[in-house]
Amino acid sequence: MTLTTPLSAFVRDVPDFPKAGILFRDITPLLSHAEAFGEAVEAMAQPVLTLQPTHVLGLESRGFIFGSALAQKLGVGFVPARKPGKLPMPTHKEAYGLEYGSDALEIHTDAFGPGDRVLIVDDVMATGGTAAAAQRLVQKTGAQAVALTVFIELTSLPGREKVEGLPVFSVLRY
Ligand code: 5GP
Repeated sequence: MTLTTPLSAFVRDVPDFPKAGILFRDITPLLSHAEAFGEAVEAMAQPVLTLQPTHVLGLESRGFIFGSALAQKLGVGFVPARKPGKLPMPTHKEAYGLEYGSDALEIHTDAFGPGDRVLIVDDVMATGGTAAAAQRLVQKTGAQAVALTVFIELTSLPGREKVEGLPVFSVLRY
C-alpha cells in the first residue's frame, strides 16, 4: 500500500520531555503504523545501498528498532551498541555527552574487524555525541564506519560536526 500521509505526521512533538526545555520527537506513532514504518526504513535504506555495508550497528535503544529492520532490508548482520554492563563478553567502551545528561555505549570487541564496513543507525541525531561515540567504537575494532543514518536530524544542533568525515543521511530534518 502507498502511504499518502507525510512521514512527519507520524512524529509527535512532546514539550518538556524528559526535562523542561527539551522538545522530544516521539517516533512511537510511526512505529505502530506498518506502512509508515516500512516507508521510513525504505527511505533510510535507499541512500546507503551503494555504500555496501557489511553490518548495521544499532544504538540502544531506538536505534535497535530502525537498525534491525534496516539490516534485514540491506541483507546484512545487525550488531547492538549497548549501555554499560549489558553485553556478556569483553567490550570496548566510549563515553559521550547527551542533550540531557551523559552516558556510554559498549560493543563486543569481536563485533567487527578490519575489512568490515559498518553503517551506524539511530532514530534521532541531536548533538551528535551518541553517534560520535559509536564512530569511535567502530574505529577501535579496526573496521570502517561508512555512514550514519538516522530517521530524524535536529539541524539546530551541530551534530554533523561531531561525526567528522562520516556521511550523514536523515529522512526528516527539524
Ligand atoms: P545526541 O547524542 O545526538 O545528542 O542524542 C541522540 C540520542 O538521544 C539518540 O540515541 C536518540 O534516541 C536520543 N534523542 C535525543 N533527542 C531525542 C528526541 O527528540 N527524540 C527521540 N526519539 N530521541 C532523542
